[in-house]
Amino acid sequence: MGLQAAAVRCRACQLQICKSRVQGPHAGLTEVKTDESHPGRETFFSCQACGITLINSTDLAKQGWRQAPTTPAVTQLHKQRAAAHA
Ligand SMILES: [Zn+2]
Repeated sequence: MGLQAAAVRCRACQLQICKSRVQGPHAGLTEVKTDESHPGRETFFSCQACGITLINSTDLAKQGWRQAPTTPAVTQLHKQRAAAHA
């Protein structure tokens, strides 16, 4: 309810995730890392405007551009809380 921890995408990022995988990142995106442990290469970009992370994937089974899920640390915390309430 109410405020959510997830950052809100800026307009450029909103447009970015609708773009084709072969199109480059918008001007506010900075490459942070590349992950090649998947079938396709995944490149992570951080947005200077809104602070979210976008992933560009070369894996045709995945969306070309997508927003990165919440950080593993946060997910871990939620799992611990869920377990405590179980
Ligand atoms: Zn952005």
